[in-house]
Amino acid sequence: MSQWVTKGLATGVKATHYPRAAETAPGTSPGMPAATSLPAARAQLVAARCPTAALRQVPSGVEVDRRRCVHCFRCVRETESPVDWDAGCQWAELLAGSERRGRSLGRAFSRSLHILVVDAGDCGACLSEVRQLNNPYYNMHRLGFFLTPTPRHADVLLVVGALTEHMRLPLRKAYEAMPAPKRVVAVGSCALSAAIFSPSFICAGGVGKLLPVDVEVPGNPPPPLAILHGLLLVAGRKPPSGTDAVRAGANQDRLR
Ligand code: SF4
Repeated sequence: MSQWVTKGLATGVKATHYPRAAETAPGTSPGMPAATSLPAARAQLVAARCPTAALRQVPSGVEVDRRRCVHCFRCVRETESPVDWDAGCQWAELLAGSERRGRSLGRAFSRSLHILVVDAGDCGACLSEVRQLNNPYYNMHRLGFFLTPTPRHADVLLVVGALTEHMRLPLRKAYEAMPAPKRVVAVGSCALSAAIFSPSFICAGGVGKLLPVDVEVPGNPPPPLAILHGLLLVAGRKPPSGTDAVRAGANQDRLR
């Protein structure tokens, strides 16, 4: 035991400094496509490459619906008109409807949250990223975030997966068993929009069709830092926006 303490003191803190400082370590975020100015003909071509209709042609070029992006990289690889790429990780969004509903958790919850994770039809990718939050590098305990296995102790319901028909009832029961105040965080493009799986016989189009979602974290899967950003938003501790964003194709070479 004393060896671990000595080693820890000798090597220093190895956890990410996010959100106190921007994350600069390579490989911590796959990035995300960004709205791009393009001539009409090229915008049409690149939008047609997207398998989930996440890219939409507009007069100035293309817009991105991050909720539908599945990170296939078709819009930057092997195309003459690659879109710009946001290399940051602060993609989570507090939905306006959540604020209107007055669903603030209040100051009492800003330093410590207990989170119930429900797999509502996940392939394993988003769940794997959520699991990383407990490892020494992301170490969400330092921010006061803890996982709980029971809805009775949960303040936040974190949902991954496209919400299959069989998971509708268990998910609703879990939500109803949570004490108020409570909030819902949807993680991953499947939980947000069901992406390539909807509409189909097995799912209806994301968690928002069943529960009042407060924070959405896009990505397929979103990296741990993006999920942390969502949890900070739900706790009312939103980090300074744009501190780690690198826009406008700064890393295009890496992507090809
Ligand atoms: S990465 Fe794939 S899914 Fe996302 S916008 Fe580009 S083409 Fe569409």
